[in-house]
Amino acid sequence: MTEGRARLDALPTIYPRVFSNGALPWGFEHGDGWCELIEALCAHINTVLHDEPDTSMAVRQVKEKFGTLRFYYRLYGASDAMAKLIGAAVDRAEEASGQICERCARSAKVQTNAGWWSTLCPRCRADST
Ligand SMILES: [Zn+2]
Repeated sequence: MTEGRARLDALPTIYPRVFSNGALPWGFEHGDGWCELIEALCAHINTVLHDEPDTSMAVRQVKEKFGTLRFYYRLYGASDAMAKLIGAAVDRAEEASGQICERCARSAKVQTNAGWWSTLCPRCRADST
């Protein structure tokens, strides 16, 4: 297992309030390059959740789709303000993933190749063809 993968897989244990349903059924379905992005997102959400002890959150799926991050979750008992804050944080991370190589975290762009979308840096793109 890579270091990035181990760090991702540890997140449900580190942030039980974010992952109240435990580990993801299919794991993190994206490359290790987004590890820091996901770690920062989870840390931020965890901090935001401190303000509402009765709110709970369940992360349902985290994956790559059309080259960028998709972070699917549910909130239970959240105020509108809380839902907005978390929604905005997830939106920002999903948007940011379009500029981070999914494989190595270097600067990257979303590109399509024969209908296949991916966000890779020039080096990883060259390696994958
Ligand atoms: Zn790369």
